[in-house]
Amino acid sequence: MNETEIINKIHTLKNQKQAIILVHNYQRPEIYKIADFIGDSLDLSIKAQKTNAKIIVFCGVYFMAETAKILNPKAKVLLPDISAGCQMADMINAEALKKRKNELGGVVTVAYVNTPAEVKAEADICCTSANAVTIINSIPMSEKILFVPDKNLALYVKSKTNRDIIPWEGFCYVHALFLLEDILEARRRYPNAKIIVHPECNLDVIQNADFVASTSGMVRLAKDFKEVVLGTEADMCNRIKWEYPDKICHPLKKTAICINMKKTTLSKVLDVLENENNEIVVPEIIANRARRSLEKMVAVIE
Ligand code: 13P
Ligand code: SF4
Repeated sequence: MNETEIINKIHTLKNQKQAIILVHNYQRPEIYKIADFIGDSLDLSIKAQKTNAKIIVFCGVYFMAETAKILNPKAKVLLPDISAGCQMADMINAEALKKRKNELGGVVTVAYVNTPAEVKAEADICCTSANAVTIINSIPMSEKILFVPDKNLALYVKSKTNRDIIPWEGFCYVHALFLLEDILEARRRYPNAKIIVHPECNLDVIQNADFVASTSGMVRLAKDFKEVVLGTEADMCNRIKWEYPDKICHPLKKTAICINMKKTTLSKVLDVLENENNEIVVPEIIANRARRSLEKMVAVIE
C-alpha cells in the first residue's frame, strides 16, 4: 500500500469505529496528515478527557497515552508502538518517590506529566511544561515543594516563582544536549531570528533565549516572527512549517531527536486501528489516585 492508500484506510476505519487520532507535536510530518488534533501534553490531555470517541489512537509516547486513559477511562486507548517510552519518565518510580517523601517529611509533591501513572498516584498535583509556573503558584506559600522528575523544569519554575522547590535528579536526554554555546552560535548565525527554548533545557540555556515555551507555546509564538530557532526536538520545525509554510525555522541542534517519538508510523497506526491491539491498561486503584492529581491540575487552569 502507498501512503495515500494507508491514509484513506485509516480515515475509513476511524469513522467506522468512532475513533479519534491525537498527535503530539514531535511526531513525524506524515502523522500530522491523519490527526484530528495536534498538540502538546496539556492540549492532548484535555482533548482526551473531553472526547466522546470510543477509541483514542495516541500518536506520542507511553506516559501521554496512559494519561489519556486515566482521564478518560471509558475510551479504549491504543499506542501504535507500545515500546515508545520516555527516558525521563523512567527516571522515577513510586517506591523511590515514597522513600524521598518520607525522608523530606511534609512536602507537596508536584509530578510533571512525564511520569508513570504510579508516580502521579503518589503526587499531590500534576503539571505540564505549559502550566508548571501556574501550578506552583497555586500551592500555598508556606509549603515546601518536591518537584519530580525533571530537574531543569524544577529549576526554571523555581527561578520564576522564588519558591522552596526541591528537584528530583531526572532530565531529558534530548534537551540536555543544548549548551549555552549553542545559543551564542545561533545568535551569530541567525541574527534576525527569535530563539525559543523548552523548559526542559538547562537553566543557562533558558536564561539566554528570547522565550521559553511548551511545544504548542512555540507554535503560537512562531506566528509573530518570520524566523525562529527552536531549542527542542529538532523535528519541531516540521510542525512550524506545517502550520506556517512561509516561516523560517532552524533547530538549535539537528541531532536533538527523541527516538521514541519517531517510532510511530502510518502502518502502525493502521495496524492498531484494524486490530485494536496495544491497548493501554492502568490498574484501577492506581488510575483513581493518578486521576485526582491530573484533575487537580486541570481545575487550576480552567
Ligand atoms: P510538551 O508538553 O511541551 O509538548 O512537552 C512534552 C515533552 O515530552 C517535551 O520533551
Ligand atoms: Fe521524554 Fe525527552 Fe522524548 Fe520528551 S523529548 S518524550 S521528555 S525523552
